[in-house]
Amino acid sequence: MDRKYNGYDFVEHNLNNCKPYRFNGSTQEDFYKWKDEMQEVMAELLGLYRMEKSEGETKLVSRDEKDGYTVEKYSMNTLLELKMPYYVLTPKNNNGKAVIALHGHGCNGKEGLVDAANADIEKMEKYNYTYVNELMSRGYTVYVPDLLPAGERILGIYEDDRAECTDVNNALISMGMCLQGVYLKELIMLIDSIEKKYSEIGCCGFSGGAHCGLWLCAMEDRLSFALLSGYFHSFKDTLIYSNRCGCNFIPRLWEYADMGDILAMAAPLDVYLETGSKDNLNGIRGVESPLEQLEIANKAYALFDKKLSIEICDGMHQWYGKVLENI
Ligand SMILES: [Zn+2]
Repeated sequence: MDRKYNGYDFVEHNLNNCKPYRFNGSTQEDFYKWKDEMQEVMAELLGLYRMEKSEGETKLVSRDEKDGYTVEKYSMNTLLELKMPYYVLTPKNNNGKAVIALHGHGCNGKEGLVDAANADIEKMEKYNYTYVNELMSRGYTVYVPDLLPAGERILGIYEDDRAECTDVNNALISMGMCLQGVYLKELIMLIDSIEKKYSEIGCCGFSGGAHCGLWLCAMEDRLSFALLSGYFHSFKDTLIYSNRCGCNFIPRLWEYADMGDILAMAAPLDVYLETGSKDNLNGIRGVESPLEQLEIANKAYALFDKKLSIEICDGMHQWYGKVLENI
């Protein structure tokens, strides 16, 4: 590898020149001022102001009674010319609380999470995508949407099951939007439509689903808790080496924030994190990177007498479920 010509050093140099707009205040008032400013900047970077809402009704597509729970499928008009399909799994003995379960890659979107007929069982076992059932067994009603462009929202560009995030994100960023912005906008609309039905709404996600959940925590104040697994580390440690899928990229983000700053925006929300000790998506410094980012977030959490921690589980990149012990 000839680093002299290939731009590798150039990218690293410029990454190191990105200085986030980090919270350094000392009162809750300072924090909320910073959070307001950050939310406004992030809404611009994510392209939220450019997205046009659709006004159509959400439609019930199907309803099935299963052993101990009901599965409903809905189609929601979200943005103009865009519909989001999602499942709602309601246990018979539900606790009146809901969780939005967000999928990552390699599980055919929502299908792998609910173990539906067309789930990719092999990948499901690799990453241990079991949280929908685990949340239901705790009494939570679980909402499971397909995020663009996965599950039923796939474009079909490739013959194999490669993720199409990069293709869609390239088009979106060329128009001042991005995938994470679309996820956020759609999930906020979902919360708008269900918030009156439940005493609490949380979110839960693994890998790409935890990335999406992290944004929801930072930008949406109605969540009661979040369970995020396998996605929390510095951008600088990973994003030209490992997590290269297009869904990771938001124009100009690194000029303003690292992941710790995004998590800081969520304060004082209860966010529970976990990662694998050998999760190579954390980068070559391993768990040092998540711990460093956590410290950044905890500067904000300390103002609310709270301290977030991250469960380090023994193993690779997968869902462990340790975070469930907190709810
Ligand atoms: Zn992706």
